[in-house]
Amino acid sequence: MSHCLNNYDGLCANIHGHSYKLFVCLRGEVCQDKNSSSYGMVMDFSHLKKIVQSEILDKFDHALIIEQNSPFIEQVKLMDTKKEIVDFQPTCENLVLHIKEKIEPLLPCGVELFSVKLYETASSHAEWNLRDVICCK
Ligand SMILES: [Zn+2]
Repeated sequence: MSHCLNNYDGLCANIHGHSYKLFVCLRGEVCQDKNSSSYGMVMDFSHLKKIVQSEILDKFDHALIIEQNSPFIEQVKLMDTKKEIVDFQPTCENLVLHIKEKIEPLLPCGVELFSVKLYETASSHAEWNLRDVICCK
């Protein structure tokens, strides 16, 4: 995915890309109902993967994420390329919060989003968890 940062005094002001890695962690009780298809699970991995695929990966994978007031926006709108125009600065921290907002309402009853961790590079990531946003480098 590519992005660029507004009013940023550095190389990330340019349109550039990263090989992001996303980790989503859930919390809940393991289902004990032997008649349920979720028996022995907190949530079926395939159900979670479908949510992440449709809400996040289908939109962001190999796309340019750009803020609506970016100085590049008019040129980008004319480009025949996959893009997502957002109303926030597309930093790792803001992307984590956006991903949290998209996934959380689609989880089944009794399953709680515990953390969302997004690696921008192998050594830089941002994380939201039940307590706070934590940035690590
Ligand atoms: Zn970047």
